[in-house]
Amino acid sequence: MPEHKAKTLRLILGDQLNAEHSWFKETDPSVCYLLMEVRTETDYATHHIQKVIAFFAAMRRFAEWLRSKGHKVIYIRLDDKQNRQSFEENIAELVAWHGFTRFEWQLPDEHRLDTTLAKMAKALGVPTAVYDTGHFMSTRTELAEFFEGKKTYLMESFYRYMRRKHGVLMDGDGPLTGKWNYDESNRKKMPAAHVPPPPLEFENDTTAIYAMITEAGIKTIGQVNSAAFPWPVNAEQAVLLLEHFVTHCLQLFGTFQDAMTPTYWSLYHSRLSFALNVKLISPQQVIKRAIEEWRKRPEEIAFHQLEGFVRQIIGWREYMRGIYWLKMPDFAQLNYFNHTEKLPEWYWTGNTRMRCLQHSIKQSLQYAYTHHIQRLMVTGNFALLAGIAPDEVDAWYLGIYIDAIEWVEITNTRGMSQYADGGIVGSKPYVSSAAYINKMSNYCSGCYYKHDKRTGERACPFNSLYWNFFDRHEKPLKSNHRVAMMLKVWNNMPQEERTKTLQQAEYYLKNVNEL
Ligand SMILES: Cc1cc2nc3c(=O)[nH]c(=O)nc-3n(C[C@H](O)[C@H](O)[C@H](O)COP(=O)(O)OP(=O)(O)OC[C@H]3O[C@@H](n4cnc5c(N)ncnc54)[C@H](O)[C@@H]3O)c2cc1C
Ligand code: SF4
Repeated sequence: MPEHKAKTLRLILGDQLNAEHSWFKETDPSVCYLLMEVRTETDYATHHIQKVIAFFAAMRRFAEWLRSKGHKVIYIRLDDKQNRQSFEENIAELVAWHGFTRFEWQLPDEHRLDTTLAKMAKALGVPTAVYDTGHFMSTRTELAEFFEGKKTYLMESFYRYMRRKHGVLMDGDGPLTGKWNYDESNRKKMPAAHVPPPPLEFENDTTAIYAMITEAGIKTIGQVNSAAFPWPVNAEQAVLLLEHFVTHCLQLFGTFQDAMTPTYWSLYHSRLSFALNVKLISPQQVIKRAIEEWRKRPEEIAFHQLEGFVRQIIGWREYMRGIYWLKMPDFAQLNYFNHTEKLPEWYWTGNTRMRCLQHSIKQSLQYAYTHHIQRLMVTGNFALLAGIAPDEVDAWYLGIYIDAIEWVEITNTRGMSQYADGGIVGSKPYVSSAAYINKMSNYCSGCYYKHDKRTGERACPFNSLYWNFFDRHEKPLKSNHRVAMMLKVWNNMPQEERTKTLQQAEYYLKNVNEL
């Protein structure tokens, strides 16, 4: 670690690569920025190789950018000899050996790091200060304040509050078009012959980082072409991806938001989640640009496409973050249905005959990405129906996706997808039989299993597991009016049919690794 004369040490975490932060407005020779690649971060989950590469590549580019602007930077690489492989130890050592007289950091997005850094700062023995990251459109506690005294946390209410607060698509106090929600215009199946725009993939050379990760023996999953790494790793590439999205995808974003196909891995989604989560780009910038494009091409971009997108960014994303800070750390222990099963082995390989799962998992391993409905209604749906322990499900989601950072992973997985929170995030469990998957995708037509069979040979596992789920959890679900209808259908089914269905489900659950 080099000698220097700076007095203040400022920590920048791997997901705090915000070039617009107030810290960087001026260069100050008495300030030194610190970025580090450490084993505590690479090893807290089994991450996708693309995720580890993306973080390190983006951090290295950010450090280069800082230096190019005249800032002092200490960058500790994973294979640096003096690297103590943890934030606390590296910082303590730098402060002690290099005479820093002040330590500053930005509020981490993760509860784990929030606690660790606050504790460490207290013990450092020098004055410290913590700053906001300046990234989000609501504060950590704003959702808690908004819902104070309320028993439920409806995303729609928070979304409308955010639209009003930031004056996004508003006409006075009401929505610009007189309507807040366009969900019913969105979410269509994609015709089999429809060809989505080819994705914008970058060709970043990350071979050196890949070699270093391999050499260090870090356990990862998935595949990568490190010579042509496709994800954005700096602010310029994030902007190019945003431009690609507004130019080619926004016009059908809402329409095909929930569509699934085995033919293409990238449809009309923005794939901006990694860039957003590490703060290479801001939510304000993203929605401003989308709105600008809609104003430019109103004939081509219907309002419901835009609204569907804005809702994801200033609705769902900010909402999940607010829920995280309101409910952590207890949220990470919730297990409403007391599910205890292990994740089937094929979640790590995609080697299952169920085509929807096979494709979604193999795509995840290849690209570190699937879109929301594949995560929610294929992999998440099956895990919930099969009674998998939420810890197992969380570990899988936290590892496999390029954008997986706990605040947005756990609220979506344990909350929205697994209903382990008993309805904090969603008002009902997101479970479905093959009917939904067949309605929204082209998976079922080429599948080994028959989507229209509930029992017997080659009956689709989703069908019996779906009813088995309602049968097993009738007690906790009885008071939920959103699923009352399904419970009624189940209870009115002829006894013989019910017995056959439960036997089929039991067989599948016993042989889950062979499906
Ligand atoms: C089980 C499960 C786990 C998930 N884990 C993650 C995760 O680890 N990290 C993550 O960023 N998202 C997660 N999501 C939310 C969502 O699936 C991804 O944000 C989205 O698929 C990213 O792709 P995109 O950028 O193409 O999104 P788009 O469809 O283009 O949406 C635009 C942006 O809106 C935001 N957004 C959309 N939906 C959500 C949501 N439900 N919660 C929060 N933000 C949202 C994202 O920032 C996204 O980039 C998860 C969803 C589920 C069901
Ligand atoms: S038939 Fe069942 S398992 Fe096969 S793709 Fe359809 S929903 Fe998935």
